[in-house]
Amino acid sequence: MRITSFPFGTGATHRKSRISCYTSACSHLTFCISEWTLVNPSNTVDLKNLVSDYVSSHGKPAIDLALAALSHPETGYQEFKTAAATASAIRALGLEVREGLAVTGMTATLQGGSPGPNIAILSELDALPVPGHPDADPDTTAAHACAHHCQLGNMLAAAIGLQAPGVLESLSGSITLMVVPAEEYVEIEWRNEQRKSGRFEFLGGKPEFVRLGELDDVDICMMTHVTTEEPHDGFGVFASNTGLVAKFVKYRGVKSHAGGAPHLGVNALNAAHMAIAGIHAQRETYKDEDTIRVHPIITRGGSVVNAVPDDVRMETFVRGSSIKAIKSANEKVDRALRAGALAVGATVEITTLPGYLPLTQDKTLASIHRLNAETLVGPDLVHEFGMRGGSTDMGDLTQIMPGIHPYVGGAVGRSNHSEDMIVDDYNLAVLDAGKAMAMTVVDLLSNNASEAIRVVTEHKPSMTKDEYLEMQRGFLSERSFTE
Ligand SMILES: [Zn+2]
Ligand SMILES: [Zn+2]
Repeated sequence: MRITSFPFGTGATHRKSRISCYTSACSHLTFCISEWTLVNPSNTVDLKNLVSDYVSSHGKPAIDLALAALSHPETGYQEFKTAAATASAIRALGLEVREGLAVTGMTATLQGGSPGPNIAILSELDALPVPGHPDADPDTTAAHACAHHCQLGNMLAAAIGLQAPGVLESLSGSITLMVVPAEEYVEIEWRNEQRKSGRFEFLGGKPEFVRLGELDDVDICMMTHVTTEEPHDGFGVFASNTGLVAKFVKYRGVKSHAGGAPHLGVNALNAAHMAIAGIHAQRETYKDEDTIRVHPIITRGGSVVNAVPDDVRMETFVRGSSIKAIKSANEKVDRALRAGALAVGATVEITTLPGYLPLTQDKTLASIHRLNAETLVGPDLVHEFGMRGGSTDMGDLTQIMPGIHPYVGGAVGRSNHSEDMIVDDYNLAVLDAGKAMAMTVVDLLSNNASEAIRVVTEHKPSMTKDEYLEMQRGFLSERSFTE
């Protein structure tokens, strides 16, 4: 029986009634207890050992899935081959798969022996363009230089472990495998066109999943991401990641002969150049603790060298450690973008798009995961870090429910997204990462899900789903400025 029959939801008002199902008198209480008493209260440590051993002995399909995804890297909302391989691998576990969510996403559910909270184990389908990467698609340059292929594998490994004989029956609750498209916020111009055509509303996959209601019956979320950072042979947990808004910018100038009649043109590239200089001039105004990152690229710089550029396009993120800081920096960036147009008499069209929110690790979940990771690799190889400059839409989920986003090593290279980022330890990045998540699920859902209930009860979400969607939609703007 699926727990959605209970009054569960991501809204704070629902949260009270949900917990009452487990902890105090309610119409479901008799049912809850009667279900629970049927369960054999196996020792949690034994269950976790069983899970871990089962992943070791039966985990090959998880590595196979990661390698299959590595072999056909695809960018966000276009991960059709990757989605097909993932759905097939999940079905091979005997699970039903709901496909086609947010274009390429999917979910599947493992049911515990009795009702309880629903824990989502997430993974991401997408690669990103990284020309020069040895595993890049020769046509698109897409490559798994953020190792999302390993997330597909470690999610599957966790599912395999939880299917070890006797485990699910001992758990109170359910586990949703949630495979999400488009975490890398790239190809902004193309995605914005797709948005306008109504194919999706949000350019990132998890915000789109939230909008579609796919998180409505999820109580706790987790995902493990691969990193090149130390410890290479272990795990790391950051306290937070930055959030971001994304921008697509068009400068319109006037075409003219670049040598013979530049005085008749308006140089849109010079406008963009001035804007980037203006953005740089803001940097001394940012507070360190706000972790502001603004890093524009020019995606079109003109059409031919012997004509004054009249169509120049830019994309940028404005990242920060808090929503307030992001909004403030975004205003400064807009000012600089307008200044570039003003300087040369061009027109600038600024599209600001909702991006990702800062991430907050749930401390209780993080400590449970950490202990499990330590049993796998030893305490010296599980590190804790502060703020991370990168962003992820797992941040969005942690604003509306308890969640964790630990990192696992097993990769080498300068950094994620570089052309030399290679996974060199699939046992760690796929199998051990999957074991740590499955063992965390066992901690949460064994013993009548008392730990999961504690996490959900003690967690104070920053906002409800509706407040989240309203905030994200509030970031969207399309404005045009002429001198
Ligand atoms: Zn990435
Ligand atoms: Zn990533």
